[in-house]
Amino acid sequence: MFDLNNILRDNIKNLKPYSSARDEYSGNARAFLDANENPHGLYNRYPDPHQHLLKARLSEIKNISADQIFIGNGSDEIIDLCYRIFCRPGKDKAMTFSPGYGMYEVSARINDVELIRIPLDTDFQIPRSETKEILSNDSLKMIFICSPNNPSGNTLDHSAIRMIISHFQGIVIIDEAYSDFAETPSFLLELDTFPNLIVMQTLSKAWGMAGLRLGMAFSSPEIISVMNRVKPPYNISEANQKEALRLLEDTEIFQHRIDLIKKEKRRMEKELRHIASVESVFPSDANFLLVKVKNASEAYDKLRQGGIIVRNRHHQVENSIRITIGTPVENDLVLKILKE
Ligand SMILES: *Cc1c(COP(=O)(O)O)cnc(C)c1O
Repeated sequence: MFDLNNILRDNIKNLKPYSSARDEYSGNARAFLDANENPHGLYNRYPDPHQHLLKARLSEIKNISADQIFIGNGSDEIIDLCYRIFCRPGKDKAMTFSPGYGMYEVSARINDVELIRIPLDTDFQIPRSETKEILSNDSLKMIFICSPNNPSGNTLDHSAIRMIISHFQGIVIIDEAYSDFAETPSFLLELDTFPNLIVMQTLSKAWGMAGLRLGMAFSSPEIISVMNRVKPPYNISEANQKEALRLLEDTEIFQHRIDLIKKEKRRMEKELRHIASVESVFPSDANFLLVKVKNASEAYDKLRQGGIIVRNRHHQVENSIRITIGTPVENDLVLKILKE
């Protein structure tokens, strides 16, 4: 059985969080003279440390209770927070699959945690027996699973993911940064089944708010409350909370843009496959395509000379470049240059 107390670092278990002025008094008053703020100005007040309004809106959109939502300064803050909560530097280990998202590794190094990387199979799927073996490793505390996966773009098999969550005594973080583009259901629906599960999503991709830096973690109220204790008190600015609330109003344009990106992705897939220098296009449930070409650095250079920047992923997947789906005009330009 999973027990949160067995997995928390001792310093975190016993942590008494910073109590901000806004925590100690949050009602109405004639004058707030408790936080050394400047009484003049537009953004002169500290923001709501618990982002109540934003969480209420996200709770509606995601159909999940507000005490199961954590908001970070991008998913990157959440990844770092998880290392600090669950992994003792120089002792504990984390695990992920390769090819995968670079931040799990960078954050592991910053926190002096060893990250084990298990290669996905040739279809970019989880190798079950190799993975199952490692789950009983005592120093392994945390597993990152990115689905749809960056940079391959495919959704990982849900039954393999469930096998991991149910056999592992530590924390499993499913990074669903691209799930709004995918057809498969989110693991949000399985939070009640798995007490060791954290689902991570972001407003950076499908919602188009990368500039606002808003990442989300969904988990049990117990785990979310630990995250709240460890985060910097005012990690989401007033301006960002307000702007996100405004942009989250329009779910119609959100859906419209997703449909447009998916349509463009299908067109790009088809047209790329007809280009001589393209060897294959990997199936994608995200807003990008991993494309295997004859020579990745040559394709990268040609595109760059034409003013188009893509990601050369050769060191992860041989001779592959990752192309984000842009506007129809931008996508046409990619096709034109690759055809030449
Ligand atoms: C883009 C991306 C994110 C989002 O990160 P933010 O810090 O929220 O912008 C998270 N995970 C993966 C795998 C991504 O590709």
